[in-house]
Amino acid sequence: MRNHLLKEVDTLSSQQLELCYHCHKCTAGCPVVDAMQYGPDLLLRMVSLGQDDAVFKSRDIWLCVGCYTCATRCPNDIDIAATMDGLRQMALARGYPAGERDALLFHRLSMGVVQRFGRSHEAFMLGLFKVLSKVPLMNDVPAGIGLFMRGKVPVLPERLSAPLQVRQIFAKTRSKK
Ligand code: SF4
Ligand code: SF4
Repeated sequence: MRNHLLKEVDTLSSQQLELCYHCHKCTAGCPVVDAMQYGPDLLLRMVSLGQDDAVFKSRDIWLCVGCYTCATRCPNDIDIAATMDGLRQMALARGYPAGERDALLFHRLSMGVVQRFGRSHEAFMLGLFKVLSKVPLMNDVPAGIGLFMRGKVPVLPERLSAPLQVRQIFAKTRSKK
């Protein structure tokens, strides 16, 4: 029988996590698993056992970068990235602080930049992130200069022709909460 947590996560992320038979393929391919506490496979197990508190306190839901590697490897087509999105949303709604403070800041800045300019602008976003986060200010400077010199990071943000429509998408999303 599905517990309350499993039902809610299934509904919010449009998944059927009970199909997971813990083959571990998702965790074996996850690029950030070394930094995680449990890894995607074990986290799903905790959801299916109804371990709300441990799941919502976990750093893992904040460290997932949404790369979809797990989803492409899963024999049962479980989209764990969507599940992680749902778990983050549920953790915040229940008043849990983000397991990774800087990850939440990064999410918010990233969405804020897209909302402002209509698309991402890495240099602007990372500059803000460095100032506001606990990450040492200078540790990515050499890599940043290299990217800039190769023209990979534009100095000024490109503006979309329809920024208003992008802002409307954000407004609609907020009104559904
Ligand atoms: S790959 Fe799919 S079935 Fe296997 S452990 Fe991960 S979520 Fe479960
Ligand atoms: S989507 Fe998240 S959990 Fe899945 S492989 Fe990527 S980082 Fe890992």
